Amino acid sequence: MKKMRAKYSLPFRPNKNIRRHSAPTHKKYNYPHAIDWAMPVGTPILAARGGTVVERESRFNRWGGEKEIYHGNGIRILHSDGECSTYWHFRWRGIKVKRGQRVRAGQMIGYSGQTGFALYPHLHFAVYKTVGEKECNLRVRFV
Ligand SMILES: [Zn+2]
Repeated sequence: MKKMRAKYSLPFRPNKNIRRHSAPTHKKYNYPHAIDWAMPVGTPILAARGGTVVERESRFNRWGGEKEIYHGNGIRILHSDGECSTYWHFRWRGIKVKRGQRVRAGQMIGYSGQTGFALYPHLHFAVYKTVGEKECNLRVRFV
């Protein structure tokens, strides 16, 4: 029997101001299944699945084209099966969880923004699993 993959919920409360956008650069950076949702700065972001916050960066307050790619605010949450989810472009000091903190699915983790490589305000969301030495970007189906 094929093992079922864990489920993820949408990392925000849906409303008419949030729209999924395509991002051609995702393929270039080897995360073809990452998702961008355009949304107003300050939209509450929710954990899509429970886990532990293992990376956190919230000090940046700049944005623009590709040269800003290392100046984004984001977090990484590790899940019990080894998958991890990443969330990017939070606004300056917009992350409301600490490194090492356990979070539940649906818990508010911060506020969206436009930091880093972002030409408009949006949330970038991607799920990974490390296989051997390679980090693979996984396709996500939301509950
Ligand atoms: Zn993106």
